[in-house]
Amino acid sequence: MATNRTFTMIKPDAVKNGYMGQIIDRFIQNGFAIKALKYTHLSKEQAQKFYEVHAERPFYGELVDFMCSGPIVAAILEKDNAVNAFRTLIGATDPAEATEGTIRKDFAESKAHNAVHGSDSDENAAIECAFHFSANEIF
Ligand code: GDP
Repeated sequence: MATNRTFTMIKPDAVKNGYMGQIIDRFIQNGFAIKALKYTHLSKEQAQKFYEVHAERPFYGELVDFMCSGPIVAAILEKDNAVNAFRTLIGATDPAEATEGTIRKDFAESKAHNAVHGSDSDENAAIECAFHFSANEIF
């Protein structure tokens, strides 16, 4: 049963490059309602925990270091079929392979520094939303 919610982070590269506002506007213009929003800086422990599913991948250390290298924006977004709709909006992991007009195509630096995170399943969306937000921060 789809929850119609997904979790996103605007990653440190996009914040540093000044794209935070434009990216949030893309969310809204594409029909995603903002249910929760937070400007924060992940600790190394938080980044390690968040990306635990990738612990065996060779880039895990680099990914963790990158994600705690600067502030991020975390958000819960709502729309019909949110997880899939949002993956379409952000585009492929590697911006070089992303479709024209997608957020990663327009704002990402590289496959590693790819501007935004988007949950890959309803199950992970629920876990990720709960990781970053308590019930009284969701509206
Ligand atoms: P996503 O679901 O599209 O975000 O992609 P993945 O689940 O495959 O990877 C998770 C994140 O790890 C990506 O969004 C990138 O930030 C990072 N990543 C993926 N591939 C690489 C890589 O080869 N090197 C590094 N340093 N990071 C990577």
